[in-house]
Parts: sequence; C-alpha cells; structure tokens
Amino acid sequence: MRFIEFAELCERLEALSGRLEMITVVSEALPKFSEEELPVVVNFLMGRVFPDWSPLKLGIGPNLLYEAVAYVTGDTKERVIEEINRRGDAGRAVEHLIANKEQTSFFVQELEVFEIYREFERIARSEGKGSQRSKLLAIRRLFGNSRPIEARYLARLLLGELRIGIGEGNMRGAIAKAFGVPSEQVEHAYQARNDLGQVAVLARMGASALSKVQIELFRPVKMMLAQQGTIQEMVKEHGVVAAEYKYDGSRFQFHRSGKEFRIYSRRLEDVTKALPDVVKRLAAATTTDLILDGEVIAVREGRPRPFQFVLQRFRRKHEVSSYVEEIELVPYVFDILFLEGETLIDLPFSERRRRLEQAIPAYVAPQLQSSDPEELEEFYHRALDAGHEGIMLKDLESTYMPGVRGKRWVKIKPEVDTLDLVVIGAEWGEGRRAHLFGSFLLACRSEGKLLPVGKVATGISDEDLADLYALFKDLVVSEAGKEVAFKPEVVFEVGYSEIQKSPNYESGYALRFPRFIRLRADKGVEDADSLETISLRFQQRPSA
Ligand code: AMP
Repeated sequence: MRFIEFAELCERLEALSGRLEMITVVSEALPKFSEEELPVVVNFLMGRVFPDWSPLKLGIGPNLLYEAVAYVTGDTKERVIEEINRRGDAGRAVEHLIANKEQTSFFVQELEVFEIYREFERIARSEGKGSQRSKLLAIRRLFGNSRPIEARYLARLLLGELRIGIGEGNMRGAIAKAFGVPSEQVEHAYQARNDLGQVAVLARMGASALSKVQIELFRPVKMMLAQQGTIQEMVKEHGVVAAEYKYDGSRFQFHRSGKEFRIYSRRLEDVTKALPDVVKRLAAATTTDLILDGEVIAVREGRPRPFQFVLQRFRRKHEVSSYVEEIELVPYVFDILFLEGETLIDLPFSERRRRLEQAIPAYVAPQLQSSDPEELEEFYHRALDAGHEGIMLKDLESTYMPGVRGKRWVKIKPEVDTLDLVVIGAEWGEGRRAHLFGSFLLACRSEGKLLPVGKVATGISDEDLADLYALFKDLVVSEAGKEVAFKPEVVFEVGYSEIQKSPNYESGYALRFPRFIRLRADKGVEDADSLETISLRFQQRPSA
C-alpha cells in the first residue's frame, strides 16, 4: 500500500474525537493491508516503528530530522527550526515546508508503507562510524519523496508521537472488529505475544489461530504491575492473600533455553551483558527451560542498598566486571510464566508459585500467606526494618496479567504519593541558571497521546540540572520564547501534595506542589502513569 493512503487515513483519524468512530475507521482499514503490511501499519498507527519488545530502536533525534528536512527543502536548518517553533507542531511545520518546495521541484518516487518500514529497519541496524551519516541520507531520501501530507506523518513517526489518538486500547478494539474475533481473545493473545501487529495477523487467520498463542522464549513479556492499596481492602476482597517483601531494585525477566540465558529489564531491553553475575546465579539454580519474573537488588553486608546502585549496573555497557565487584546484586524471583514448553500465565498464582518453588529452589522471594490483617501488618514492619520498600499483596487466584496494573497485586509502602510522568517540555532557567532548563513540563498517557498535568522545578539540585540539560539537549523539538518542547522519551518520578481539577492543563488535572524525586531511567513512555490513574487518585483523595 502506498504511504499516501496511510497518511490520509491518519488525517481522517486526527479529525475524529469519538473512540467508537476511531475504532470503526481503523477496523475498516485494517483488512485492506497485505500480510506483510498489516503488522507494520498496526504499529505505525500507534506511533511506533517497532513493537515494544523488539531490540531494534530507530535512534533518530530531532536534530537529524531538521537537517534532513532542510536539505530537502533547500532551507537552512535555522529556518526549519523557526517554522517548527512558530507552529509548535513539527509535523505541520515540515508539511508546510515541503509544500513550498514542491512548487519548484516534482516528486520522484512513490513511497510504499512497507518500503518505509524496511528503511527504518536498516536505520535501526546501522551502527558505529558513519551510521549518523547513513541515517541522515536515508531520511533525506524519504522526505525527498514525500508529498506534504506524507511528510507530516513521517516527521511525527520519527519523533515518536503521531497525535491521532490510537493507543493500545483502541487498536485492540479495532483488530477485534476488523476480523470478527472476541476482544478478550485479542487481549489475551497480546499478553502472550506483546506485539499487536502480530496479533492482527493471527486475528485475520481467525479465532482458533488466536487462541493457540503461546509465550515464546527470548521474546520478553510485559510485566504485571501493581496498584496502591491497603491490607484491609485486600483481605476483605480475597481472604487469604500472599504477601512478599517489596524489594527496591529493578524488575527483570529471566529466560532460559538449554544453555542459553537472557535477562530483560522492565523496559524489555536485553541487559544480559550488564548482569553476568545475576545470570550465573540463576543459571546455576535451574535446570529447565523457563521464564522467571523477579526483582534484583543491590546489597552490602546483607542489607539492601538504594535503587540507584542497581540502575548503575543495569546501564553498564563497558567495564562491566569492575562494577560487578563493586556492586553486588541479588535476584529475588516471585513468578514463573513459562516452564518446559508450557505457558503458565493462565494458571492461578497459587499454582504458579508451586511450580516456581519446584523449578528453582533458590532465590525465591519468601512468602507469607495470611488473612489476618495484624499478621500482615507485622510482616510489613519486618520488611521495612530489613530495609525494603514495603510489601506486595497478591491475590492467590489471579492469573498473570502482562502489562496490567490491576488490583490483583497491591503495593503497601509508607511514602507519599508519587507519579511517573513523561517530560514533554521545559522552560529555560533564570539568572545563573539561564543556560539550563529550569522547570519541566510533565504529561500522563492517554490513548496514544500525552496530556500535560503540571510543571516541576522544585527538588532539582544544581548538579541534577546540569545532568538533565545534557540529557534533554538533543531531544529539543521546538522552542517558543522561554519554552521548549521535547521528543517524549524521559520519565520523571514526581511527588505532589494533592491532585486538583484544573482547566490549565489538557489532562484536566494539575499537581499541587510537584517535587522532582528521581529520573526513572528504567521506565519508558509506555510505563508512565495514565490519565486513568490520575483521575482515580483524584477520586480517592482524602478530602473527597
Ligand atoms: P511500583 O514500581 O511502585 O509500581 O511497584 C511495583 C514494582 O515493585 C514492580 O514492578 C517490581 O519492580 C517491584 N517489586 C518489588 N518486589 C516485588 C514483589 N515481591 N512482587 C512484585 N513486584 C515487586
């Protein structure tokens, strides 16, 4: 299919605001794509080039995009930046610039959806010396062959946000409707496969293909997540619950097939090379093919060390061995998703736990099963005394729900409320901080869009500010007066005193007294908190 048809579909969707209408339009479009195009289009429509689990990353910053557009339109890079700043929307600005250029030149080659995807794959695979140059040439070629409206969506795709409102929820609905399969089946296949593109291909084959989906080794599965809750509520709801320590480290997923081992981070990145000691420990403790879910913490003399130490280890690419000596890591496993060819996520937790204990006797997180709030409270204090973050309470009947932040897992911890939010912009600082970003604009997720909820400037030290400047300077998409917009990539954990309704931000909410707590390098945009979480917290606020 030609890219122009994709761009026109995006334009139609951009003009709609109703969820059902959007689902209908996408569902009518999907069957028209070929087998190889379908998975690509499904991801593209959600603003993604590759599925979450894929090791391929495009790695194109705004700067490279400006350069490519400038070359194609015959403008200077400054002129491109100026236009983007003026419009505050890189897609529309690039469209405008290309439209002007079109009057003097004519179009060379028709862009095909699948060809663009192939080009993206080549870009993602190019590395080392000369790779920036070859990426630039590739994007120049794409913009050189774009009509204005194609350029709008190409630019947005490269910047990681399509702004048409198709998130995972709407896409699941559209796939079910397009191919006449139950949406629960789409959901379930997605949990195992972690790629809606492939799920769409299976859905087209029919319900029975969809229902046979299994988890595969070395294709990481999204992790099940927890909500905040209380001991009383959990016991009331489920009776006997499983309590485990909440370890303050980093989540991991361990895959073993014969003599091959891999560890994935919470963002589903392959971090095997950074964690040879953890691999060694887990490899020695198991003999079967399996997938384990756990948390790894840093320890010194038997006590947990702060989470930052674990992150240092996860992000290490060079001189790994000296870090292995410096920072000792210990894994704790608390779930099992796959064992000897069998997908286990649909079994109740009590059964998974039994299999976990059989499959790997060491490193299993100790568990207390109880329906007595007092006993659980005592367990909670023991966790805090031992230097852990709190406890997790889990429903013993629950299946494993990849990527779901439900009420089946609940976290109990003492701290004030925090949110993980995407940094989408900033304001330049003042006085001696004028050359740095001073306050940061934060957004939550909502169906493929990022909606602002507040700004944070408090809690950031001078040292942090310098580090953050270095981190964000290559992510600047546009600038207007004192404000800059970033390519959305970075997540902050922020504290606040209260959530309020507010017309000032597009989310409809604002944070009172937001405070920077830390950079969440272990989280990506897709892990940030959603509008739903914020509105739930608003409803549950103490004064409500
Ligand atoms: P939060 O990041 O605050 O939403 O808390 C959930 C996170 O706690 C999980 O994603 C894990 O990384 C971590 N965690 C620590 N200990 C456990 C445990 N025993 N069970 C599940 N998650 C745990």
